[in-house]
Amino acid sequence: MLRPGDILSYVEMCSIEATSSLQRGMNFRLRPTHSVVLMNRRPGAPYANGMDAEGRTLVYEGHDVPQTSKTPLPKTVDQPAATPRGRPTQNGLFLAAAGRYREGLAPPEKVRVYEKIKTGIWVYNGVFNLVDARTESSGGRLVFKFRLELSEQEVGEDVPGATDLPHTRMIPTNVKLAVWKRDGGKCVVCGSRNNLHFDHDIPFSKGGSSLVAANVQLMCARHNLEKRDAIV
Ligand SMILES: [Zn+2]
Repeated sequence: MLRPGDILSYVEMCSIEATSSLQRGMNFRLRPTHSVVLMNRRPGAPYANGMDAEGRTLVYEGHDVPQTSKTPLPKTVDQPAATPRGRPTQNGLFLAAAGRYREGLAPPEKVRVYEKIKTGIWVYNGVFNLVDARTESSGGRLVFKFRLELSEQEVGEDVPGATDLPHTRMIPTNVKLAVWKRDGGKCVVCGSRNNLHFDHDIPFSKGGSSLVAANVQLMCARHNLEKRDAIV
């Protein structure tokens, strides 16, 4: 079972999403139940993605026009909602979904968010509801900003009694990076490098904070589950 805070290789991430590759950052309705976005908040990342202090809202920047001979400098051109032939881009697809939600015509699009913390190392941040989209001026051009709010439920579990997700906020990127470095990319109990998870020392649901590295540690799935059972 996929849980927020799970650490995945690229191949594992693709396998979970039943796809052979994930080349694009934005993947509208990749699966019948949900869309997928990839994010990178490390220094020097190509897009400005933000997170609020509570770790519940993510502002995801739209994507640039592809680099071609006609647009050699994509960062100088407005982000497009449609291709020159009038077909919606990924920006356009997410924009339309946000509009349908705002007008009350559809439930919010469910979006799984994966975050790159190292080359080939990804963290699952959870399921988010796409609730709004807008354009804003950035360096003299227009970019899209998509507002995503953390959902309590996994995709495909919109049934009464579905298990609520144990985490109700995202671990900030700087905390993830600090914990990964401090714990050496290994389970703090057994040293395993497989099936790792960002574990809250005191679960958020019991009043623990995920905002500081001191309260977060790397644990393999086995030790994370053992600890969770002991607390419950
Ligand atoms: Zn372990």
